[in-house]
Amino acid sequence: MREHKRMSEDIAVVGAGIVGLATAFHLLAEGHRVRLVERGGVAEGASFGNAGALAFTDILPLASPGILRKAPKWLLDPLGPLAIPPSYLPQITPWLLRFWRASLPDRYRGSLEAQGNLMRLASRAMDAMIDAAGLSGHVRQDGNLQLYESEAELSAAQPGWDARAREGIAFEHVRGERLAGLQPGLSPRFVAGTFTPHWQTVDDPHRFALALFRAVMERGATISHGEVSAIAPAAEGVSLRLTDGTTLDAARVVLAGGAWSRPLARQLGDAIPLETERGYNTTLPPGAFDVRRQLTFGGHGFVVTPLVTGIRVGGAVELGGLKLPPNFKRSEAMLKKAADFLPGLRTEGGTQWMGFRPSLPDSLPVIGASRASPRVLYAFGHGHLGLTQSAATGKLIADLVAGRSPSVPLAPFRPDRF
Ligand SMILES: Cc1cc2nc3c(=O)[nH]c(=O)nc-3n(C[C@H](O)[C@H](O)[C@H](O)COP(=O)(O)OP(=O)(O)OC[C@H]3O[C@@H](n4cnc5c(N)ncnc54)[C@H](O)[C@@H]3O)c2cc1C
Repeated sequence: MREHKRMSEDIAVVGAGIVGLATAFHLLAEGHRVRLVERGGVAEGASFGNAGALAFTDILPLASPGILRKAPKWLLDPLGPLAIPPSYLPQITPWLLRFWRASLPDRYRGSLEAQGNLMRLASRAMDAMIDAAGLSGHVRQDGNLQLYESEAELSAAQPGWDARAREGIAFEHVRGERLAGLQPGLSPRFVAGTFTPHWQTVDDPHRFALALFRAVMERGATISHGEVSAIAPAAEGVSLRLTDGTTLDAARVVLAGGAWSRPLARQLGDAIPLETERGYNTTLPPGAFDVRRQLTFGGHGFVVTPLVTGIRVGGAVELGGLKLPPNFKRSEAMLKKAADFLPGLRTEGGTQWMGFRPSLPDSLPVIGASRASPRVLYAFGHGHLGLTQSAATGKLIADLVAGRSPSVPLAPFRPDRF
């Protein structure tokens, strides 16, 4: 029998966040030689301090008719779930207009279908990556509990649950003893909840990413430390220029630079409306409260996650770009609310963090080839869901490199869709 010989290529992945790492993992599995190029520490961007959810059931795009209804009220509270620093308003306005257009019913339905397809792949691909990389010890299987302060709030959320039911997603509305059993010690202001059993969380997102990094290095990846200032495709390959004046050559490049990917894509002729939704949290010492599973306070835009490293309280969206200094009053405001919602929560000794979610206005990532060259592929813009969708993105990039038909239709994720 003749052995089928696979074409092995030298592929550089710009960015060692969770998306770059999962992409490296999938490319290595297909026999490619992979070099990560990272200007900072491994997974020290958005992938460092997120809420750790593998939120496969979270298929509803943020750009939705529902958000348009909630946003005006949220914007009235300067430390509420959604904020726009006035100085950033002129820059963010075009993105907001696109967000509004993506929220209109027709466009929303298209994004929902695309997100559902990507999430089904995300779940399968993450399971497979966790198995193959030996990461199962980093994953909790105890689901998520979304909480409501009134039956009216639950009724308002019902269309979203109906949409999930149509996608075959399991959930259970809970009240009374069942609710108290899923999370003892909740404030009585929460009268109902929805339990999604197949939601998972990692033990700590940074630890999870570092474990994946070790798996990638064990499989032969290399890492170069430096900041890429230009990506120059040619007929035979691609050159990466670094700010220290050095050049790295590869057969292909995957740009997985998270919220910082926009200028590099721009150089390649792609005007991608990537912005950042800044998110905030506080990680309290372990034991600050007996949190049984991840809790979502949807009406207040934050979650409480039990991690091996502590209890993480946070979320919120601040449309403030990459340069404004953080406003940690946001972390404090969420912590204060969490103390009301979980009476007895010990709020001292926490560590505050802000992270830059890489966000496109239609709530979908960019996965596909650059305009300038099929040798440069994009894998960024996963917004609130980059950890969840990292393995799926790696799988899709590996499909593109192999010239296979992709595991899900890629049209909704095309870089030139804007
Ligand atoms: C508060 C908060 C909570 C969140 N919760 C969740 C959650 O529960 N579940 C979930 O799935 N997602 C969550 N997210 C979103 C998730 O964190 C991001 O979508 C994900 O981390 C993005 O990964 P990334 O690899 O694309 O980007 P990053 O992790 O930011 O990595 C990009 C990397 O590229 C490097 N880089 C950029 N430009 C260059 C360059 N020119 N040269 C060299 N290196 C470069 C950066 O240094 C960085 O290390 C949350 C985000 C926040 C802020």
